[in-house]
Amino acid sequence: MRSPDDVRHVYIDKSLNDGLLANSIRQRLAGGDVTIEVVDNYREVLDHYQKQGQLLEKDSLLIYPFPGRFVSSCPGSDGMVCCQYFVINFGVGCLYDCHYCYLQNFMNHPLMTLFGNLEDMFAEVDRKIKGKKFHFRIGTGEYTDSLALEPITGLSRILVEHFADIDNATLELKTKSCNVDSLLDARHNGHTVMAWSVNPPSVIDEVEDDTASLDERLEAAVKVQKAGYKLAFHLDPLIYYDNWESEYHELIDRICDTVDTNRIAWISIGSFRYSPGQKEVMQSRFAEDNLTKEEMIQGPDGKYRYFKTIRQKMYGSVREKIMSRDPRLFHYLCMETRSSWQNVYGFVPDSARNLDALFDERRHFVDSALAGDPAQ
Ligand code: SF4
Repeated sequence: MRSPDDVRHVYIDKSLNDGLLANSIRQRLAGGDVTIEVVDNYREVLDHYQKQGQLLEKDSLLIYPFPGRFVSSCPGSDGMVCCQYFVINFGVGCLYDCHYCYLQNFMNHPLMTLFGNLEDMFAEVDRKIKGKKFHFRIGTGEYTDSLALEPITGLSRILVEHFADIDNATLELKTKSCNVDSLLDARHNGHTVMAWSVNPPSVIDEVEDDTASLDERLEAAVKVQKAGYKLAFHLDPLIYYDNWESEYHELIDRICDTVDTNRIAWISIGSFRYSPGQKEVMQSRFAEDNLTKEEMIQGPDGKYRYFKTIRQKMYGSVREKIMSRDPRLFHYLCMETRSSWQNVYGFVPDSARNLDALFDERRHFVDSALAGDPAQ
């Protein structure tokens, strides 16, 4: 597993040198041998790394002011059922190297970046969310892993404590790491869901390079459960291979045997997919992979997926297994067609709001389970 200790160099744009994030990083790296360099113009650093033109050692991090919008709706996909999820973009680039990651398709340099103008980010979050008659689910792991760098940045801890004061939002931190220690005593107020993307150990070994093992992820889930957080799991991307069925069933058993299922706010189920152009990048970087050898079909959103018979067989099997462990668990299909919903679940959420009501129902259930838990 790669660790945040692999980061050797942090660049901070001088406009952010006294900001919340820069101070948090300085505090966490104090006394160590990581170089912290304040730069006059972050664009020069970005240019330098972009000119390298290929993925090399991921040992550098740049903190710069993001000029754009931080909060957006999950891009969803044309023709797919959407679940009204929102994302906060807090940086781009990841310490890990999953073979299926879509970042490879548009990032050709190793520099990881975080947006350090947190005051702007929180002002936008508050404007967008506070006072609205809607419960937002909002996550940070779209262009990076939410916790991969947490031990050296403290960024997610700052977010958790900000969301602790927002009653109509649930923050989701999605990760393939086990970096939770610095969040255990954060003031979360029950408003954060700690989520793990999971796959069977054989898949993690093959295609999720540098990430935490399944054991490490589940140990971390137990720690945050003890600290009163809600949990979520993403069985996404499901990978189709010879032993997929038995290994995904074992995975679900491992999760349900390890954590309290009453704490699981949601489980998403989705299959491996990629955008045009990504297959060629994957083949050039991971020539031995079986991932790109399976025949795929292009959907209405332009993405390639397994044939629908394969996808629906996998979804149905995984869904039944989850239900056999705890029929009250809430699970849903991510970026799937109406016909997959109909064939797997026997209904199609008639609108994003309809699906949202199911999230709300489960949230109330988990809240009551937490309220009745004497350990809390
Ligand atoms: S953890 Fe997520 S963001 Fe990081 S490489 Fe894997 S898929 Fe990409």
